Amino acid sequence: MVRTEQVWKWFGSTDVLRGVDLAVHPRQTLVLLGPSGSGKSTLLRCINALERPDSGLLEVDGQRVGLRSGGGRLYQLTEGELCRQRARIGMVFQRFNLFPHMTALENVTLGPRRVLGLSREQAEAEAERLLTRVGLRDKLDSYPAQLSGGQQQRVAIARALAMKPHVMLFDEPTSALDPELVGEVLDVMKDLARQGMTMIVATHEIGFAKEVADTVAMLDGGVIIESGPPGECLVAPKEERTRAFLSKVL
Ligand code: ATP
Ligand code: MG
Repeated sequence: MVRTEQVWKWFGSTDVLRGVDLAVHPRQTLVLLGPSGSGKSTLLRCINALERPDSGLLEVDGQRVGLRSGGGRLYQLTEGELCRQRARIGMVFQRFNLFPHMTALENVTLGPRRVLGLSREQAEAEAERLLTRVGLRDKLDSYPAQLSGGQQQRVAIARALAMKPHVMLFDEPTSALDPELVGEVLDVMKDLARQGMTMIVATHEIGFAKEVADTVAMLDGGVIIESGPPGECLVAPKEERTRAFLSKVL
């Protein structure tokens, strides 16, 4: 479960998030739509504690992220608390960010060995299982430069899953890919959703949203201007700005 209540975030004098309210229930997928600069990445980065919100409530599985209150006041979390919270949340970025000098298998085993304390054998067995799950059984020993963009992104998904996250965040995971590679990454994400992962996906892939999302939320100017099931939000949006956005991306 991910919940945000009145999350605000400023960069200097710019208010990028202006009171975001969201709820994503366990095993559900929320697709986050919104024009460039609307704050999608900033919101995901706040949920993953890569950025700290300036005010508001942000919870993952009932644990506060970024800020906690005590005696009626808000406190920034310590680095240690932030690390423990980040470990519950997997994130996949637009750029795959794989370690170039490591094979697919090594990219996936690094976190579990260093952070979860798995033995090499345990980590490799799990990594092999995950890389098989994303269709890369035959690429375990390939380096990122030897893989296509779609394959690299699937390694990045396997790497995030290896940390046993409760929630997966995707920030435009297919927008840097050649069009013919988009489908294979979306298929892996559809599979994950079907198997009950809780997910928040910022994407312009409206077909994916229609097929997979339980809820679609439209972010504009740092606020959710409209949200609801895809059958409503994407088919008969109430807000003019949602209609204008959809007519551009469809
Ligand atoms: P896109 O679709 O282009 O990825 P987005 O919806 O993800 O856009 P954000 O990246 O969250 O938008 O950015 C929202 C606003 O916040 C933009 O105006 C951006 O310039 C600003 N911003 C983001 N990060 C920072 C930062 N670290 N410092 C200053 N301003 C920032
Ligand atoms: Mg972004």
